[in-house]
Amino acid sequence: MKRLSIKMRVTLWYTLLMIIIVGIILVFMLSISDDFIEKDANATLISVVEENSSEVEYDDGELEIDDDFKFREKYVVSIVMDEAGNLIAGDYHIEQALQTELLEDDVQKIQIDNTMYYLYDQKIVLENGENVWVRGILPDQGAEDVIVFAVRAVMIALPFLVLIAVLGGYLIIKHSFHPIEDMTKMAEEINEGKDLSKRIHIDAGNDEVHKLAETFNRMIQRLETSFESEKQFVANASHELRTPTTVILAQCEYMLENGVSGEEEKESFTVIERQAHKMSRLISQFLLFTRLEQGQEIIKKEKTDMSELIRIVCEEQERLYAQDNISLELQIEENVQAYVNGEMMMRLFINLLTNAYKYSEENGHIIIKLKKNNKEIVLSVEDNGIGIAKDEQEKIWQRFYQTNTAIMGKENGGIGLGLAMVSDIAKLHGGRMQVDSQFGKGSIFTFFLPI
Ligand code: ADP
Repeated sequence: MKRLSIKMRVTLWYTLLMIIIVGIILVFMLSISDDFIEKDANATLISVVEENSSEVEYDDGELEIDDDFKFREKYVVSIVMDEAGNLIAGDYHIEQALQTELLEDDVQKIQIDNTMYYLYDQKIVLENGENVWVRGILPDQGAEDVIVFAVRAVMIALPFLVLIAVLGGYLIIKHSFHPIEDMTKMAEEINEGKDLSKRIHIDAGNDEVHKLAETFNRMIQRLETSFESEKQFVANASHELRTPTTVILAQCEYMLENGVSGEEEKESFTVIERQAHKMSRLISQFLLFTRLEQGQEIIKKEKTDMSELIRIVCEEQERLYAQDNISLELQIEENVQAYVNGEMMMRLFINLLTNAYKYSEENGHIIIKLKKNNKEIVLSVEDNGIGIAKDEQEKIWQRFYQTNTAIMGKENGGIGLGLAMVSDIAKLHGGRMQVDSQFGKGSIFTFFLPI
């Protein structure tokens, strides 16, 4: 059974079921109709015989049969017989029906040449003390004919009905399963050719198969996007690593070829050290992304004093920013506790703060706010720096995205990964990021963390 396709299995199942149901109905119908016809025949026969019996009298020493005595009524033939079974009135052409023994108060059923006959006798005691009998004879031929016809009609119609149902059902199932066959074919094609741009083409519809096909398409879409961004990430990451590697190699080659010494050697090593640091920074960022992608399980969360965390970071950075005359203003609510990963939170805040610093003009002012309401913790970093154009505000969250102004502006050493990481960390904690910015005027980056 398991080797058959679902189409075949379903078709076979309901074909079998239909045959059984129709068979049961047929048998039931036959038994009911037999019973019904017999009861109806008996009732007709008895009523005719009883009516006729009241028309038989003994008057003036003679047996008298009234004119109302009906010898033929509703297919019932009535005759009058004496106690010995001799015919007194009426006639009937089948001898056997006349010779059958007289029996009071019970319908007799006899078979003569393939036909059933119902006989009913009623005894009449006459005034002179003698008995006469009224016998009703009803042949079953008519009733039998109807049943035979009905049975034959059903027997002929049944296979046709089953055939139509099976054919119709098979076509509907075949049509409904078409998208599934498409899906299998597509999955095979993807598997063989590794082409994720393929989709299942399906007309509009709302049944289970359509929903499955749509879900399948969405899943492939997500896989495609995810593979694409993964490919893009690897390409960008390699590109970013290539620059410092090229510089280091060039410095090494130069030193080896020219045998530099003293001051020049120191300079070369300084360059190599700076580039190696850059590479190391990049590599730790990449590793952090990998950790973020692994998700919840790997990130340990604990109760953290956000107020303290922010103060510590600000104190460390403040002196650095003072060199460029950029001031920090803290509006921090005390004792704001959150259930987070401390290291990640610090990374999120440092990224926002260093961006505010990097994209501030000289004499800039940065305001850091932290507060808690009954729904969420809100942390914002506001600067009055270069700002971000409206059409770029969506894109800055993408990995490796940098605005034109940032690329052309001061050498900031960034590669466009900071905000993507900020957004990932926020999401991992069930929170979200928001940017409000005006080009040329400044930006506010806000982190909402639900409690
Ligand atoms: P980057 O390493 O370039 O700073 P980010 O992912 O941190 O990368 O930021 C992406 C881009 O968003 C930056 O290149 C910059 O153009 C813009 N940006 C981020 N923060 C600010 C800010 N505070 N003011 C203006 N532009 C910003």
